[in-house]
Amino acid sequence: MSVSHFPPRDPGPARDPLALAPEDCGRGHACQFCPQEETCRLEKGHHEKRLIESRLAQIGQIIMVMANKGGVGKSTVSANLAAGLAARGYRVGVADADIHGPNQSRFFGFVGQRVRLGGNGLTPCAFEDDGIAHPLRIGSLAFMMERDDTPIVWRDAYKHDFMHHLIGSFDWGPLDFLVIDMPPGTGNELITLADLLEGHDVAALLATTPQEVALMDSLKAVRFCQERQLPLLGVVENMAGVTCPHCGGEFHLFPRAHLAEALAEVEVDSLAQIPLSPALASGSDRGQPIVLAAPEGPEARAFAPVVEACVAHARQGFAEAAAHSLQALASEASDGLEAALASVPPEQRDALRDELQDQLAGLLGDAPRPPAPDDTIR
Ligand code: SF4
Repeated sequence: MSVSHFPPRDPGPARDPLALAPEDCGRGHACQFCPQEETCRLEKGHHEKRLIESRLAQIGQIIMVMANKGGVGKSTVSANLAAGLAARGYRVGVADADIHGPNQSRFFGFVGQRVRLGGNGLTPCAFEDDGIAHPLRIGSLAFMMERDDTPIVWRDAYKHDFMHHLIGSFDWGPLDFLVIDMPPGTGNELITLADLLEGHDVAALLATTPQEVALMDSLKAVRFCQERQLPLLGVVENMAGVTCPHCGGEFHLFPRAHLAEALAEVEVDSLAQIPLSPALASGSDRGQPIVLAAPEGPEARAFAPVVEACVAHARQGFAEAAAHSLQALASEASDGLEAALASVPPEQRDALRDELQDQLAGLLGDAPRPPAPDDTIR
């Protein structure tokens, strides 16, 4: 199925607040794709909410790759980050949210491909490579357009709906990481996605170049993250230097002193400096991210700290969630223990409590552990 735009959502019939949870059809796609849309009497808003929650429940860590300015290489950073995570053994998806420049289809070699609507929604394109154990799952507006060169002229309501489709209508399956290639700026699309993903494990990365104008825009994105309490893992400096193809010497097109100073002021780390490299650009054009095409090359080495930062953040989140569950479990078990001890004769109570608490501590000692590099996060 191929569509060129999405009509605004139908909110469906008004809901009785005393009614039980509304009935759902269980279909894995949005109502706009449904052959029964005209006649269906079910609550469509509920269906969409359930669909998005069921997708997100299977996704571990979400990384939003942002840039407040176009043309800084945000999509290249997204593609190579995703490929770097996949090369570490993780299950990774790439959601291309850049409505006006959906490039991930090109970066993974799927130009001209169209996705099909299956029983469980739209199937992302699967990118395979010898360097990865699990295919990367790519979802993009480009797979749903009549033609690749169709310009997108949408009002905000359509963009809002597309953001919901991107997360809910694509059948992402279980993922350790979903990398979202965000549109530039801090406008409607970013706000819609930030709202949609609230309460889930989301962190942001900011791509920029060391130019003064890009820097000023990037600081606006930093402020957005701070105001929304969205963890910002750091900045990826793209086009940070050039390696001469003849002599191998390095030089910088833009001085980075201002960038370093400004980042220190807002307490944001610079994670990596990615060189302006012909290999990086041609890897993107060929449809194979450079971190997979040349895993030992300087570009892959430059991306490594970005991958590390995402893995470290995800592991920390996992460890915190495990510690929280463990605490809840321990407090529940301790309440249950006291209730059970109430029926034991008082003179035996203390000895039995000590014995049972030792056993409980032994059991809770087998708590879940944070994932090792090649483990899955969920
Ligand atoms: S219109 Fe929506 S709620 Fe109704 S059957 Fe189709 S997908 Fe389900």
